[in-house]
Amino acid sequence: MSDRYVVFGNPIAHSKSPEIHTRFAVQSGQDMHYERWLAPLDGFATAVRDFIQQGGKGANVTVPFKLEAHALADTLSERARAAGAVNTLHIVDGEIHGDNTDGIGLVNDIVVNAGWALTGKRILLLGAGGAARGVVLPLLTQRPAALVIANRTAARALELAQQFGAQGVVQADEFAQLQGHFDLIINATSASLAGDVPPIAPTLLHAGVLAYDMVYGKEPTAFMQFAAQHGAAVRDGLGMLVEQAAESFCIWRGVRPDTTPVFAALRAQLQA
Ligand code: NDP
Repeated sequence: MSDRYVVFGNPIAHSKSPEIHTRFAVQSGQDMHYERWLAPLDGFATAVRDFIQQGGKGANVTVPFKLEAHALADTLSERARAAGAVNTLHIVDGEIHGDNTDGIGLVNDIVVNAGWALTGKRILLLGAGGAARGVVLPLLTQRPAALVIANRTAARALELAQQFGAQGVVQADEFAQLQGHFDLIINATSASLAGDVPPIAPTLLHAGVLAYDMVYGKEPTAFMQFAAQHGAAVRDGLGMLVEQAAESFCIWRGVRPDTTPVFAALRAQLQA
């Protein structure tokens, strides 16, 4: 029987993970099966235990269970511990190893796919929720000149900056106070889901800046449109989605899939 993998979430019907991992498996000749698992909102731990009892080998975890997955794991990677959230479970001899591949997915999409080196750059991170928390350490590992975090609820940005202060040059600021030059502006808020743009000065966006939105869709997000209007280069989060999946796949199977054709197939589907 094929090795079994799932993605836990609620809701989960929209998830593209089964398609991504099935493409990775076919491409690399891995004998595995990957499907969605709708866990009850109050039954994530039970769902994971059931899955393990059925012989499950690994899982992705999405909204709203990433914090619970962090609490449930028997062991944690350094990046999962730093993020306080887990998106990848690896089951070995009945033990649950928790990891977080969101941050490395973002970094690989920017550095490898977009060819945008982060070392020595000034980075602005908008948002301080789960996604932002997961990318801070992987971004700092690239040794940027500075990482500034701004969030609608300013106290959460400050807390995040303080948590990672020993790992690099990281500080918090308020949306309205943001000024100076940033090479890369990452929108890790969910504002785009409602068609909103975080209230930052348009002067931050100009030619030479990369504006990256973690949200993706058929059309450029409101943030991407705003950034492009002011001359910035833009990129959405589809590449991050594919790259975080590739990192999970590598953890489970010890094989690094080629993300280029998978990204192209997903992009074509989104725009069909
Ligand atoms: P959370 O709910 O944990 O955090 C939401 C964040 O967005 C908070 O910082 C919140 O600020 C901020 N926010 C929400 N609405 C607005 C608004 N109108 N204006 C300004 N700020 C706003 O979500 P996540 O961090 O888990 O996810 C954030 C986004 O990233 C989601 O849209 C998600 O789809 C995307 N994502 C994409 C991934 C990918 O692979 N491409 C992976 C993971 C996430 P406050 O603290 O003030 O509430």
